[in-house]
Amino acid sequence: NDGLKRTREGFFKRVRKLLSFESLDSDSLEEIEELLILSDMGSETAEEVIEALKDRKDKGKEPIEVLKEVLVEILDIPFEVPQARPYVVSVVGVNGTGKTTTIGKLSKLYSSNGNKVVLAACDTFRAAAVEQLRIWSERANVDFISQGQGADSAAVAFDAVRHAVSKGKDVVIVDTAGRLHTRSNLMEELKKVHRVIGKASPGAPNEVLLVIDATTGQNGLVQAKKFKEAVDVTGIVLTKLDGTAKGGIIFAIVKELGIPVRYIGVGEKEDDLKPFDSREFVNALLS
Ligand code: GDP
Repeated sequence: NDGLKRTREGFFKRVRKLLSFESLDSDSLEEIEELLILSDMGSETAEEVIEALKDRKDKGKEPIEVLKEVLVEILDIPFEVPQARPYVVSVVGVNGTGKTTTIGKLSKLYSSNGNKVVLAACDTFRAAAVEQLRIWSERANVDFISQGQGADSAAVAFDAVRHAVSKGKDVVIVDTAGRLHTRSNLMEELKKVHRVIGKASPGAPNEVLLVIDATTGQNGLVQAKKFKEAVDVTGIVLTKLDGTAKGGIIFAIVKELGIPVRYIGVGEKEDDLKPFDSREFVNALLS
């Protein structure tokens, strides 16, 4: 179970079927384009795929292989993982997208690779979020830094990074606020948190992950753009892919934002976060 069942067995299954016919006539190409758009891929990307299918078909390639090639090309944005200790990961995104859960899963992933992890509860606005994160930290047996409700989130971040520096920890994962109703303040707060993290450890945050809920489709994309405008997002975590048949949104997101996907969330449990690999993903979608 790779968590992509719904997307694979929805629109993409029908695309696969159409591509397996002997001839790829204009009717079936049109139908394919429609299905790709229904998968939330975005009309621009869908059109690009169709053009490639027309073009490369003449060169004698299998249509399904052409489709895979085009889709991998879209997702394959190179990224570098900078060397830093502590390696500070700031996780941003709107409340409800799965930020806290993602951080819990990430801490498990990092600690199971032998890293000493510190979690920083900087969403000081939501007592429940802090408590949820504390539970995750206990589950993953990692350090947890928090202050009282309403504390300055930048102060918590500073504490956590200093703690990591002085205790020789490997990774700090920072949970940030994501309330939407006071958006401009939120973005200012995030910028401040990042500035202060940089003071506690030069060059940090080393990675800024933007969490996007796959089930919110184009809406999630609009919100994501706001975050991209405000802070230097280096990677995307696309959550709840298991809960949608419209996983084609991943192509629209990458194309629109120009930021690589680093992880996908495919369930609610601690092991349900997968480091993202474009080829593996596309193969899973079209097999
Ligand atoms: P936050 O408000 O952004 O911190 O969101 P939470 O981490 O509290 O997650 C909101 C809800 O989404 C919770 O019920 C999570 O269990 C659920 N969730 C998070 N990630 C995933 C995922 O990848 N798949 C599924 N099915 N549910 C998820």
